[in-house]
Amino acid sequence: MSLRPPSVDVVLRHDAVAVLVAQHGRPRVADAIREELQAARTALGSAGGGAQLVTLERIAAGVGARLQEFARSSLRPVFNLTGVVLHTNLGRALLPEVAVQAMQDAARQAVNIEFELDSGKRGDRDRHLEALLQRLTGAEQATVVNNNAAAVLLALNTLGQRREVILSRGELIEIGGEFRMPEIMKRAGCKLVEVGTTNRTHLKDYEQAIGPKTALIMKVHPSNYEIRGFTKTVDEASLAGLAHRHALPFVSDLGSGTLLDLRQWGLPHEPTPAELIKAGVDLVTFSGDKLLGGPQAGLLVGRGELIERIRRNPLKRALRVDKLRIAALEAVLRLYEDPERLAQRLPILRHMTRKPAEIETQAQRLLPAVARALAGQARVAVANCESEAGSGSLPSDLLSSFALAITPEGDKRKATARVDALARACRALPVPVIGRVRDGKLYLDLRCLDDEAGLLAQLGELKPAPGEPQGSGPG
Ligand SMILES: *Cc1c(COP(=O)(O)O)cnc(C)c1O
Repeated sequence: MSLRPPSVDVVLRHDAVAVLVAQHGRPRVADAIREELQAARTALGSAGGGAQLVTLERIAAGVGARLQEFARSSLRPVFNLTGVVLHTNLGRALLPEVAVQAMQDAARQAVNIEFELDSGKRGDRDRHLEALLQRLTGAEQATVVNNNAAAVLLALNTLGQRREVILSRGELIEIGGEFRMPEIMKRAGCKLVEVGTTNRTHLKDYEQAIGPKTALIMKVHPSNYEIRGFTKTVDEASLAGLAHRHALPFVSDLGSGTLLDLRQWGLPHEPTPAELIKAGVDLVTFSGDKLLGGPQAGLLVGRGELIERIRRNPLKRALRVDKLRIAALEAVLRLYEDPERLAQRLPILRHMTRKPAEIETQAQRLLPAVARALAGQARVAVANCESEAGSGSLPSDLLSSFALAITPEGDKRKATARVDALARACRALPVPVIGRVRDGKLYLDLRCLDDEAGLLAQLGELKPAPGEPQGSGPG
């Protein structure tokens, strides 16, 4: 016991630290000891005469805490109780178990991703998905890249580089992040030719814009916004007719791209790739991890000649997907072969179609335990709320749902700080719980809660908000 910190070697020989070496490796432990000793020296210096005793035990415990913090993954599972089913910041679609299994199998072993088992020759990775996508969309051919943003970039670059692309002013969209149609056009090497106005675009607007430099006509699905009132857009069949009369390809970026008509599950209709192909669209791009419910991917389906040109573009090589995602996507696409069981098997569809009454029952079931855990700190009630699909899917359609609405106790003046502190405490749980703050309450929308037991098991660790006067601790 001394005021002077021990040496690194002395700490390394301590019994408790030897255990850490076996877990974390010697170099990492030695670094943690140096950090801890430096912190101890700083504390000694600043504390002047009244310094804390620097015991070997105290240093060893500090080293253990540092290593534990460091060893924790940065990417962690969370409870998505935001009410946004496809939350981009929380990783979008949850994969069905068959897809998880397929990814595991592909990860552990060598697979014939680009290898023809019959001939023993080199194969094409698109082949694994092509037959399924042909069946599900009616397209001649299909290819897959990293995400739909990549699919759009690749399609434009392949078909429109150094030439003009005609697009309605009502569809000059920003998807979020840096993805804006005009920027993507520029990066793809295309010249954007805007036609029509924000609210109204006619067939003749497109027709008048066609010239010797036109490469293609494009349509972008308004997936994350809606233009209402005095509006006019041109339907796919008319645009396809126009494009084909001028021997131009017609490309549609569908965004979400669910493969089946959602009305069979009581959800609003979203156009499907199959509908667009049938209407004469030559190339359709859509996401793998939005309403389709698979892994992140960008799918391109359409005329064989166009898909083959896309495959020959060197950018395709830069944007391709790996065996894990092909495995997951194949497994998810296979589920679509059996629409009757899809809503039970595909998490995105199961969550989207949960009945409000069932979510309410779940909320009532959880209410007592959550109220007990927050006794003295907050009032908990079951409240009606609205969930949404998210990720720019079905933007104007809200799904009626139920939440646990948590109102912190205490005087009104600090209500905002208190509800923020409560939200932070939920995020600090071993499996962070992410809710939504609104009107001074924290809402935990239960639409996407599958692991009820997991949520209940960690309620005891909900720490009271720091700095708040406390009557009783967590229950
Ligand atoms: C979401 C979306 C994209 C981007 O798709 P990612 O798979 O997120 O890259 C592109 N276009 C539209 C219309 C979209 O809705």
